Order: sequence, then C-alpha cells, then structure tokens
Amino acid sequence: MEKIGTRKLQVMLVPLPLQGHLTPMLQLASVLHSRGFSVIVAHTEFNSPNPGNHPDFAFIPLQNGVCSPSGNLLEMIATINTNCKEPLEKCIVELQGQVSCIIYDSLLHFVDTVAHHLKVPTIFFRPSTAVYMQSYHALLSLHEKMIIPLPESHLEEAVPELHPVIRFKDLPLSVSSKIRQVVIDFVKSFSDIKSSVAVIWNSVEMLDDFSLQHQYQVPFFPIGPLHKMASSSSSMQTSLLQEDAGCIAWLDKQALKSVLYVSLGSLATMNSEALVETAMGIANSGQPFLWAIRPSSVAGSEWIECLPQGLREVIQERGLIVKWAPQKEVLAHPAVGGFLSHCGWNSTLESVCEGVAMICRPFFGDQMINARFLIHVWEVGVEIGNVADRKSIEEAVRVLMVDDRGKETRRRAAEMKHKLQLSRVKDGSSCKALDELAQFITSLSPPK
Ligand code: UDP
Repeated sequence: MEKIGTRKLQVMLVPLPLQGHLTPMLQLASVLHSRGFSVIVAHTEFNSPNPGNHPDFAFIPLQNGVCSPSGNLLEMIATINTNCKEPLEKCIVELQGQVSCIIYDSLLHFVDTVAHHLKVPTIFFRPSTAVYMQSYHALLSLHEKMIIPLPESHLEEAVPELHPVIRFKDLPLSVSSKIRQVVIDFVKSFSDIKSSVAVIWNSVEMLDDFSLQHQYQVPFFPIGPLHKMASSSSSMQTSLLQEDAGCIAWLDKQALKSVLYVSLGSLATMNSEALVETAMGIANSGQPFLWAIRPSSVAGSEWIECLPQGLREVIQERGLIVKWAPQKEVLAHPAVGGFLSHCGWNSTLESVCEGVAMICRPFFGDQMINARFLIHVWEVGVEIGNVADRKSIEEAVRVLMVDDRGKETRRRAAEMKHKLQLSRVKDGSSCKALDELAQFITSLSPPK
C-alpha cells in the first residue's frame, strides 16, 4: 500500500460499495496513478476493496460508517450518506490540506457536502452513460408536469427529449404507477452535481450523448472504457467474490467463438422457474456455455439446488456453471462467441470492447436503456421477449451464434471493437479527455 503524501498531487476517491460502482472507481484510481497522482481510497467497511490487491493506493476505512448488506439499495445508500459524513470530515481534516480534490460516486452526495464545507473541490463520478443520467432528468420533468402515473397504453411510446429508441417502459423507474416522494428525493439528490467542478464518465464519446453538459455547466471528461484505460495487471483485481479461474482452462478446450457466456451481474436475481427456463433454453440451443450464477441469486435457493438432477446432467455435458467468473478474461477469450447478459454498463462495455455480440435480458436501472442501444442503435445485440421462456432463449442463442440471421450482428460487434480501440489511442477521444482531466486536476491545486 502506498504511503500517504509520497507523491506531489493527491486525489481522494470515494466509491459506492457495490461491485458495478467499485470496479470502475478502482480502475479510475489506477488510471490517475499512472498519470502521476497519488491516490487515497476512502471506503466503507462493508464491501471494502482488498488493499493487498492494490499496493499503489492508500486506503482509509471510514470508521463507524459500517453498513450491513441490505436488500434495499435505497436504504443502504441513505445509511452510507448519513453514517460516513463525520468519519470523512475527520479524515480530510487529518490530511491537512494534502488532498487536491475528491472524486466521489454520484450516489454519495454527503461527500460533496463535507468537502464543500472544508473547501476541497469535488468531481462527480458516473460509472454509467450520460444518456442514462438524462433519463432521470426526463423522469423528474414528467413528475413535475404530473404526467406520472402514465396509462399503460403509452408505455411503448418514445420519451420526448430522449433518444428516440428510449420508450417510457425503458425508464429506470416505472412510470405507470405513482413514484414515492422518497424515491423522487433520491433521484433529485444524485441528479444534482452540487458544488462539483467537473464530471467524469466511464463512457465513450462515440457511444453516448453529452448534451447534459449545457445544464451542468462544468467540464465533462468521458474517459471510458476504464477497464481498458487502466493497467491490465493482476493488481487490478476488483472482484468482491472469489473468481473461479478454472473456467479459463475449460474455455481453452472449446472451439473458436463457440461458447455462450451467461451472467446477470452482481445484483439481479431470478426465481427458480426463470432459472429452469433459462437452463432449458440454453441446453436446447446445443451451444457450449459458461454460466456464472452467484450464490443467493436464485430466490429461495442457496445456489442451483432447484435445477432438476436430469437437467443438471444435460448441462454438464455441454457447459460449465461457476459461482463467479473472471468476466473480463472470459469475454476476451477466443472461444467466447456470445454473451447473454443483464446489460449492466460494465458488462456492456466489457463485451463490446471484445467484439462479443449480446443477448439482452435487462432487469432494472440503466439495463433497459443499455439494451435498447445495444439492439437498436449499435445493432450488436438481440432481444429476448418479455417472457424469457425456454423457446425464446433457445431461439436467441441460435440467432446470435449460429444462424445467418445473426451474421450482421456478429460482424458489427467485431467492427465496434475496432472503433472503440481507436478511442483509446493517442488523439482518440478518451485519451484526449484523460489528458485534459489530468491537467484539470492539476490546476485545482494551489501552487506549493
Ligand atoms: N462480474 C464478474 N464475474 C461474474 C459476474 C460479473 O467479474 O461472474 C463483473 C463484471 O465483469 C462487471 C461487474 O461484475 O465488471 C458487474 O457490473 P455491471 O455494471 O455489469 O452490473 P451490476 O452488477 O452493477 O448489475
């Protein structure tokens, strides 16, 4: 672990302790470290990153900010925003002006309150797209105009002011029923960048729409995809669960582009019927597959006990089920030819950067919008119908991986990988934005 104060310019990063937020924040830490900044990660004790995996950064636990895992994400985030205020303030005061700026996850507004009070500049970090952020502004505007609840018959229509592929039903909150005030307050709190002097996006110019900058009126730095911008060394191990490395040896034995990788990320859950339907669909498609199923992600089961024995045997002939996969390595493996995904933003970026076409099965949050872009804008994904039954899953796997019908989708995915590579080379959009960000942070520090 790096000692505090060993380099000239120090930045403090405050991540939200959820896998999909923590990972890009640690990747950002690595990117900034490679640009000469010293990095302090101030983190909750719950889902804390392992300092042993990141010898280049200093870690400060926010004592008393302990927060137990809770099924209710809103409550968990509210608890952190309340409990971590005092410990963060103490920590910044103890560092006695050594921190040039604090980069915080957009859901942790307490950081801005504390930093503003202590006159330390803050930068807002969004681990997802600006288009997704726009969708929250659209929601707030619908709420203000009292258009919510909207009759079910309108859900298929495009949302005014958003990209035409986004329908009311793709918004992150259901607009067909009344939205509770506490939820509206929550959305307001993270749609407001408060005193932040800039916004960093784990996004890429060619994939996104940054017109929101007119409203926020601060510089935007789209420096994604962070997993590719960051060091690829093993020190970038960010998984909170133990990765099953054995699946790579299994992939090594499979034919080129033959394997379907299946994962629904770190939060989505399904019931046992959905698990069985998915298993049947994948098994009936005849493709080999690697399936990451998190413990406790199937309601009422510890793991996959609810899969009937006969089905498990069929699965074992052709596939491998693990609890947690080294996903980036899996997607970069030449044997992987498709990804059945919940379309979380990290998973989306990791897949498109490797040219792997996707079957989109979104659940909540930004996943519906990401899926709409994958299917209808970039055209590198196929849809499974609302009822993801065995037939529609089998059909989608065939289309994506085998049929001529999926040929164009696979070709576009390969092309997209190439285009995204260009954003990371010298003079590419993300590389330029990162140069500008480094200069910007440097300009925030008073001359010594
Ligand atoms: N992930 C992984 N192994 C798995 C499943 C997921 O390493 O078996 C990682 C994946 O690479 C991604 C993150 O977990 O970086 C999930 O983030 P995402 O934004 O896709 O979805 P979320 O978990 O936030 O819903």
